[in-house]
Amino acid sequence: MLDFGKIIENANLKNYNTYKIEAKCKYLIIINNQNKLRDLIKYLNKNKIKYFILGNGSNIILPDYYDGVVIKLELDDLIIEDNIIIAGASHMLNKLASITVNKSLLGLEWAAGVPGTIGGSIIGNASCYDGSLMPLIIKLDVLDKGVFKTITTDDFKYLYRYTSLKEDKIIILKAYFKLEEGNKEELLEIIKNRTKKRIISQPLEYPSAGSVFKNPEGYSAGKLIEDAGLKGYKIGGAEISVKHANFIINKDSASSDDIKNLIKYIQNKILEKYSINLILEQEIIN
Ligand SMILES: Cc1cc2nc3c(=O)[nH]c(=O)nc-3n(C[C@H](O)[C@H](O)[C@H](O)COP(=O)(O)OP(=O)(O)OC[C@H]3O[C@@H](n4cnc5c(N)ncnc54)[C@H](O)[C@@H]3O)c2cc1C
Repeated sequence: MLDFGKIIENANLKNYNTYKIEAKCKYLIIINNQNKLRDLIKYLNKNKIKYFILGNGSNIILPDYYDGVVIKLELDDLIIEDNIIIAGASHMLNKLASITVNKSLLGLEWAAGVPGTIGGSIIGNASCYDGSLMPLIIKLDVLDKGVFKTITTDDFKYLYRYTSLKEDKIIILKAYFKLEEGNKEELLEIIKNRTKKRIISQPLEYPSAGSVFKNPEGYSAGKLIEDAGLKGYKIGGAEISVKHANFIINKDSASSDDIKNLIKYIQNKILEKYSINLILEQEIIN
């Protein structure tokens, strides 16, 4: 009998994505064991069953129905020894930022407003305010096509909101970070100011998945969308936020298609008006 973890058939993923889309999937498998994960991946690959790894669902647009296996990891162990942090892939980045700052450790304070897991944040090279995870990584424990490996940042490519890990279907299991000694009061003040800034500038009162588009070289995606007069434009339940034009919010029970159609609409308008191709920062799961 195959034992891969907790299996939920025809699962509702509304509470597993920050857009709060009423998405469903054929199977949701919740796994808290690396060996079971390896066996599951081997099984899915062998049987050509499609799957994807779900972090906190804060950078993805789920389909209304995913005809495959969604794997939710529960690898949230955490060890802090002096300035060395060892965090399981499902540990939340914003929580880790808060924990480390409270231990007077400098390096993750920029991440206090990023509602993603360590795994999802490394895979997508999350960043803000010039902060990024890459310079902090000592090594990563990963699963590479069913084989456990330990890699460093020299082993993959990364750019602005991109890593080659995603194309290579690498699964992050655990990350080892090295932080520096810092001043707790100063770091807490940085977090406080940036949180205030986010509350003022971002529609945090509505479900969203953060910035929709990458900033094109030399431009701000939000400014382009705002200047094109698109703020407040709605398709179905999805709306371009009036507070921050690079956010699409789920205003009123938006479906996956509402969000995707709004994305296409924005891309067409910006191409027409400025001859600029807006590239998605969020990932459409098919
Ligand atoms: C209000 C708000 C503010 C935000 N602000 C920022 C910001 O300032 N900067 C920023 O960069 N992002 C920001 N984001 C976007 C998002 O939080 C980050 O991109 C985050 O790092 C995504 O992590 P996640 O766990 O939610 O990944 P998910 O959305 O669950 O997944 C993203 C990708 O990672 C893959 N993945 C997840 N876990 C693993 C794993 N363990 N191994 C392999 N692949 C995995 C998934 O399969 C998927 O391809 C914001 C989002 C919101 C809602």
